[in-house]
Amino acid sequence: MNRKWQLLLGAAALWAGSAMTASAQVPSTSYAPNPPAGMKLYAFSSGALTIGKGVLQNFGPMDPPIKIPVGFYVVHHPKGNVLFDTGNNDKIITDPSYWGPNFKAIMPVNTPDMAIDVQLRKIGLTPDDIKYVVVSHMHLDHGGNVGKFPNSTLIIQRDEINMAFFPPEPYAGPYIPGDAYVLRAPTGSSKPNSMKMVILEKQDMDIFGDGSVVVKSWQGHTAGSQMMLVRLPKTGPIILTGDNVYFRENVEKSLPPNLVLAYNPAGIMRAYEWIRFMMATEHADFFTAHDPDAFKAMKKAPAYYE
Ligand SMILES: [Zn+2]
Repeated sequence: MNRKWQLLLGAAALWAGSAMTASAQVPSTSYAPNPPAGMKLYAFSSGALTIGKGVLQNFGPMDPPIKIPVGFYVVHHPKGNVLFDTGNNDKIITDPSYWGPNFKAIMPVNTPDMAIDVQLRKIGLTPDDIKYVVVSHMHLDHGGNVGKFPNSTLIIQRDEINMAFFPPEPYAGPYIPGDAYVLRAPTGSSKPNSMKMVILEKQDMDIFGDGSVVVKSWQGHTAGSQMMLVRLPKTGPIILTGDNVYFRENVEKSLPPNLVLAYNPAGIMRAYEWIRFMMATEHADFFTAHDPDAFKAMKKAPAYYE
């Protein structure tokens, strides 16, 4: 073999090696996923916020402000129900001052029917019927109601706990101290947490071990953001993006978000890439939390995806 070919083959091997490393990080499971019959995915609304699109989208217009939904999801799995995000804290229904200046700034819909227990009742569930609570992150419109699930197990990244309790400047605004404080055990307790918790150290978690509900550690929007891959037996895979993706167009046109709320912009762009990879390889779809058009088109509980 001549020297040139040796070099070329060496480079190809290197390239293949790095490609394999990259793709080895991408799949969530190293085995064939096996979503069980009877799995369902429900979408819920926890009201809406009013915000200049430019706060979220790079170069987006600030006027007129747009109304964005606040979505959260329930996955019914034969081994237990998984809640993905918990919406705005129900306290703002009776006490808007709980959000401080945030309330006036983003004008949440805070009618009593937005309360999370009222929403869950649409599919006959109470908070105690939720086995796992997964938070995409602890911002006020996602982690608001974690305290309403004291008998569930919270799945969260260590990095997000740190953000929620003491965020670095300038990321403090959207974290409500009271939303995090309920996670602490009473004074004097030898254990730190008030409820069962799985605290992940930049790790993924295949909740039921069958590849059907996989929490993805994905630093982007915040330091400890998580997405969740839900592989449904009939619909196929759906990625719940949290705020790593605001609008469908972010992924479709590779549009970066406004940096104001992006802790790790490169992580966000990589999230878009992974979603496109999953769309190409597993015909996945993705649901965001705040896309007005996509949310309108989505089936809402008690209707479901199976
Ligand atoms: Zn949000």
